[in-house]
Amino acid sequence: MGKLDGKVILMTGAASGLGQAAAVYAAEEGARLSLVDLNAEALEETQNLVKEKNSNADVLLITADVSDEAAVKNYVDQTVEEFGRIDGFFNNAGIEGKQNLTQDYGIDEFRKVIDINLNGVFFGMKYVLEVMKEQGSGTIVNTASVGGIRGVGNQSGYSASKHGVVGLTRNSAVEYGEYGISVNAIAPGAIMTAMVEGSLRQMGGENWEEAGKEFVSVNPMKRFGKPEEVAALVSFLLSQESEFINGTVIPIDGGQSYK
Ligand code: NAD
Repeated sequence: MGKLDGKVILMTGAASGLGQAAAVYAAEEGARLSLVDLNAEALEETQNLVKEKNSNADVLLITADVSDEAAVKNYVDQTVEEFGRIDGFFNNAGIEGKQNLTQDYGIDEFRKVIDINLNGVFFGMKYVLEVMKEQGSGTIVNTASVGGIRGVGNQSGYSASKHGVVGLTRNSAVEYGEYGISVNAIAPGAIMTAMVEGSLRQMGGENWEEAGKEFVSVNPMKRFGKPEEVAALVSFLLSQESEFINGTVIPIDGGQSYK
């Protein structure tokens, strides 16, 4: 019996990195999945990986841009139409944006990152919470970041958006606890995904792997995290086992945020 047996779990950013790993992990735990991403082709890959782990898994794929409110309402409606309910929501899609000092950080870039990472998370919560309140149960896991709990530098838009995600998480946790709903956030450090590779390429260009070694040398554990490690935490937070955990922001970063 899996941790998420029969649960309907909705995930955004499911075509890559943390979302993809979380989808595969949740499928192994018995979840029925509604998977959302901008990238339709890569979403199919996630479906293939899910089916490799659990050939009986129910999977709905939805192509949507999380910064578009109407598209968000639509992915929530489609999920309810298909499965009748939403037990868990991994509100995860996000981008890093270009790295720059604050004075050089363009307003268009700032708006783009906020639109996806903060407004997208807000829209998702808004429509999913409506469904969960009606049900009288549910659990939401928002993806924040170490950059949402401390300064990391060169990331005005990202930092503002992820601090905002932490605020949205705590605000809704106190609003919806009485309806049997928990809202938590995860704060990953450097986990090796396409996003982190892109980030290292911004720092080191062709020598991005060297830049990576230097980057993790300051981590207490001296390594990058693995998407599967984050997926295990997400699965726990989406499950019944973590029911009384509400409003927390859990770092998963090898201890980086305590340095
Ligand atoms: P990733 O680039 O591998 O995956 C992100 C996914 O989100 C992609 O599939 C992409 O297509 C999708 N996406 C991007 N914009 C979208 C939009 N507007 N609408 C729908 N889907 C969209 O990155 P990842 O590392 O898996 O990141 C996932 C989340 O984790 C992000 O919110 C990111 O900020 C956060 N995070 C990652 C790390 C890390 O080290 N990897 C650390 C802290 C936080």
